[in-house]
Amino acid sequence: MVCYSSILLIFVFYTFQMENTTLLELAENYGTPLYVYDGDVIAAKVERLRAAFKEVNMKIKYACKANTNISVLALMKKLGVDIDVVSPQEMKLALSAGFSPEQITFTSSGVGFDEIEACVNEGVLVNIDNLSTLEKFGQKYGSSLPVFIRIRPNVAGGGNEKISTGHGNSKFGIPIEQKGEILKLVNKYQLRIVGLHQHTGSDIKDGSTFVQAAEVMFELAKDFDNLQYLDFGGGFKVPYKEGDVETDMEDLGVQLSARFKAFCASYGRELELWFEPGKYLVSESGLLLASVNVVKNNPNGTLLGLNTGLNHLIRPMMYDAYHGVYNISKAKEEASKRYNIVGYMCETDDIAKDRTLPETEEGDIMAIRNAGAYGFTMASNYNSRFRPAEVLYYQGKSHLVRKRETMEDILKNQILIEL
Ligand SMILES: *Cc1c(COP(=O)(O)O)cnc(C)c1O
Repeated sequence: MVCYSSILLIFVFYTFQMENTTLLELAENYGTPLYVYDGDVIAAKVERLRAAFKEVNMKIKYACKANTNISVLALMKKLGVDIDVVSPQEMKLALSAGFSPEQITFTSSGVGFDEIEACVNEGVLVNIDNLSTLEKFGQKYGSSLPVFIRIRPNVAGGGNEKISTGHGNSKFGIPIEQKGEILKLVNKYQLRIVGLHQHTGSDIKDGSTFVQAAEVMFELAKDFDNLQYLDFGGGFKVPYKEGDVETDMEDLGVQLSARFKAFCASYGRELELWFEPGKYLVSESGLLLASVNVVKNNPNGTLLGLNTGLNHLIRPMMYDAYHGVYNISKAKEEASKRYNIVGYMCETDDIAKDRTLPETEEGDIMAIRNAGAYGFTMASNYNSRFRPAEVLYYQGKSHLVRKRETMEDILKNQILIEL
């Protein structure tokens, strides 16, 4: 049994390098709602992960679905991070940002074979999650190309049901019980399986989940002769508020590196250990800036209605996610009043409940924390509103990296017919 404490007692908080005055200037210059990403925070997270795994040959494959702004991708490339994509479109974005095909892995999840072909045609390594696609891959490419397979280890990880992917009822990956069938296909088509992959979920605070899933993978790996990589996915938990637990990366580094080294020794070859963090690298780097439209003094509490909502940040409604909120305009004033913070959609779209903030006025600029991951990428045009602009701040400079949408974008693909 693997048993160790994974709860980091010291809270590591990656504060923005950016001053509140700079944030207010950005809100003034570009308007709100506005996503702002702090590239120095991203660099610090990359460094922390690398430091934790310095004992092994660890490669970071950024799970870009968390934030696909091409300038954020370009920053990842500059930091020496490779990339994991989940669609041919993400692959194209990665190529647009300057990644070479060898730096990209396509982790597919029940995709059509045409998507596999599209990625193979660009020279991208593909990761296959089901036997039928693996068979098609064998028929078409045989041993001519290396391939990765995604395993479902039947280990449950993840902060809530919607983001747990490794358990025994999950749709993701090839169930470990089907090892025999995988090996049959390997024999039949002389498949060159160079990597085994698993991703057990998101918001995994307990590092032992990774170690437990790794044990399953080590056991399985013995039966594959051509391995070069073992990919343990992403899903590290980040803190959302002070005192919050997060994956204890340093402890996980010690535990998993030791097991990994022992495995490599018995396997007889030095393998690369891969991770595909999304949230871990970008969540804390982002703020969503929004203005207070209305202060509504209801009998049962005061509401702050912002000029954003679930169209821009769906996580509170979709995952019951906690996002810290603070008033940048009143940053120096004492928190004295309780508020519920809501969006402006014609839909219930709570952003944050029961928060103590300084006395807030209409027109104040609010910052919603942990908005760097699954914020903009999950944004929509619901209520026919524009998606926000985005700014990347890096080494003392801020850059507009996406313009705010216009009515043209909303109308772009619509066709008005004559009736
Ligand atoms: C979403 C996803 C990740 C990243 O998950 P995070 O919780 O953002 O770290 C990694 N790998 C795969 C295959 C994914 O689908």
